[in-house]
Amino acid sequence: MDDRTYTADASPGDAVTVAGWVHEIRDLGGIAFLILRDKTGKIQVKFEKDEMDDEMVETALDVHRESVISVEGTVEEEDRAPTGVEVVPESIEVIAEADAELPLDPSGKVEAELSTRLDNRTLDLRKDEVKAIFEIRAEALRAVREHFRSIGSTEINTPKIVATGTEGGTELFPITYFGEEAFMNQSPQLFKQLMVGSGLERVFEIGPIFRAEEHNTPRHLNEATSIDFESAFFDHTEAMDVCEGIVRAAYEGVAENCQEELEALGMTEEFDVPDDAFPRLTYEEAIERINATGALDDPLVWGDDLSTEAERALGEDVGSHYFITDWPSEIKPFYIKDHDDDPELSTGFDLMHPRLELVSGGQREHRYQHLIEGFEQQGLEPEAFEYYTKMFKYGMPPHAGWGLGAERLIMTMLGLENIREAVLFPRDRQRLSP
Ligand code: ATP
Ligand code: MG
Repeated sequence: MDDRTYTADASPGDAVTVAGWVHEIRDLGGIAFLILRDKTGKIQVKFEKDEMDDEMVETALDVHRESVISVEGTVEEEDRAPTGVEVVPESIEVIAEADAELPLDPSGKVEAELSTRLDNRTLDLRKDEVKAIFEIRAEALRAVREHFRSIGSTEINTPKIVATGTEGGTELFPITYFGEEAFMNQSPQLFKQLMVGSGLERVFEIGPIFRAEEHNTPRHLNEATSIDFESAFFDHTEAMDVCEGIVRAAYEGVAENCQEELEALGMTEEFDVPDDAFPRLTYEEAIERINATGALDDPLVWGDDLSTEAERALGEDVGSHYFITDWPSEIKPFYIKDHDDDPELSTGFDLMHPRLELVSGGQREHRYQHLIEGFEQQGLEPEAFEYYTKMFKYGMPPHAGWGLGAERLIMTMLGLENIREAVLFPRDRQRLSP
């Protein structure tokens, strides 16, 4: 439709064709109003029954809510209209009629369960406050990409079908690949490392990761979007600096370009771009602080991983984003480098939001012999990873990087209770469709 005008651009005196969804019809007797909605907002269309073509008025008032229509007419100033203008119609066309009964009410007057909403995302995203989440997600990813580019990183896309997995702890999804067993990739970890040793040096990827998490939780998905970064000649502290910059860039982009969306979410007042550097606690300091809160029945001892309960206690205590550094080597993956002066301690780090973990990263083991030993210590067969380990024999620079869950970033940024709110079509234990 070349001649279509967005409702937000309709100004008094214009002859326009507006097109969109029927949001509401109010028939007051001699006069009736139809509210038409498009991506930019809503506009009132006024019908004066005595003065207008009967057939046009009838068509307009009989159409079901959420049908797609177009209206040709003139825009007039009207103080009593919700946006200060209204369309006086000359003709109306019903382009796609909606059923009278809808599985959920896009006006939001009737609340729907999350599962009903996820089954009907098309209708769900007709609500301003739901659409806002995905406009914000798009803006955050745009800002993240721009920041990565500004620090000289190259965007890469690596395979999602692989022969072996890397992240112990979570399970793999097997698939059949021309009669052979293959897996959906849990992380681009090994591929991005292979690329820091290439001529690219500094790379990022925004793409899907697949984790066969057995249980439904409010913060796990079986298919998530990972924002991954890796750079040659970086140590873990430099990787943390970039991580901080990326999180801040995402918040800044949203603060600058998504005021309307924040308003739709009722968040304009409370949305703060994190300004100071994020505190960096060592693992040892973290467990001391957690134990000091008295929140756990059994105090943590060195070597324990942090439970959800422990993370929550520490998050409340710190009250902002923070890093946990210097984890015990034995609870971090094989590809993370240990401190040279203390092999019990790894250079692994996590970025935490007060509510949950956002990022895991670290400096990587780039020395061939140490890498092979790391595999063996974690009970993995280095032979299965020869395509990867081999390249460490041909000039692999020291490097560091991290992975940030995009949905967790959006979830914590917007205070969403459930990670599924931040994905259009979530995959979880029960949900494989739509
Ligand atoms: P958790 O301990 O919270 O389950 P993890 O330590 O297993 O996470 P990593 O392997 O460190 O996760 O992955 C890096 C990041 O990717 C995580 O910090 C998180 O933001 C995101 N992520 C990992 N698994 C999931 C998942 N199942 N759903 C959503 N995001 C995930
Ligand atoms: Mg982790």
